[in-house]
Amino acid sequence: CGIVGYIGERDAKEILLKGLEKLEYRGYDSAGIAVRNEEGITVFKEKGRIADLRGAVSEDVMGKTGIGHTRWATHGVPNQVNAHPHQSTTERYTLVHNGVIENYHLLQKEYLPGVEMKSDTDTEVIVQLIEKFVNDGMTTAEAFSKTLELLHGSYAIALLDAEEAQTIYVAKNKSPLLVGLGDDFNVVASDAMAMLQVTDTYVELHDQEMVIVKKDSVEIQKLDGTVVARDSYKAELDM
Ligand code: GLU
Repeated sequence: CGIVGYIGERDAKEILLKGLEKLEYRGYDSAGIAVRNEEGITVFKEKGRIADLRGAVSEDVMGKTGIGHTRWATHGVPNQVNAHPHQSTTERYTLVHNGVIENYHLLQKEYLPGVEMKSDTDTEVIVQLIEKFVNDGMTTAEAFSKTLELLHGSYAIALLDAEEAQTIYVAKNKSPLLVGLGDDFNVVASDAMAMLQVTDTYVELHDQEMVIVKKDSVEIQKLDGTVVARDSYKAELDM
């Protein structure tokens, strides 16, 4: 299972699909991508191989921002509905997640009693919580960090907001995730191999940080909003 994300000037879908292919070795049962352009966010997801997903992705959907996922099902059978990305009720938020949210059922009961879930995954609670807190008046960044504070378990997350074209929100806890830096783009992925096609310069992320990734900046924050400074490093990896 793995995660990729891209924000920049090139067509995101090919970079995402190539990145997911590099993560195939981790094992998975389904895969999906979300691509963002002026018209909004389009999700493609399939049970089965990346090759099946490739076949389902329409060539004419172009977008310079996107996120992708390979799923190893823990909650909910492997099928198209349970494959990631997952979207909130209004589809404003689109999210991919690796890991397990141990308290998802409690969170659902406490915060989302009136929300109809679309999938059987633990993951959907995350994206629905973010939308709920935004409906209550928070900004996306506030809602994301509040949600992260409530989660128990492991996660690597990438999040798109349909109303904010220039940002991918990411976070991790006990699941791998790092940022790759480019000249007019940035990428995120579960491992460096998935990004080697576009960059060899990386920034490490720590547990319980929230990262705001734009095409020309990467801002790491603690969950209380404090900004964290961290140097990048160049990796020497054999392809
Ligand atoms: N727990 C999530 C699910 O079952 C994510 C699994 C994964 O890490 O791929 O959908």
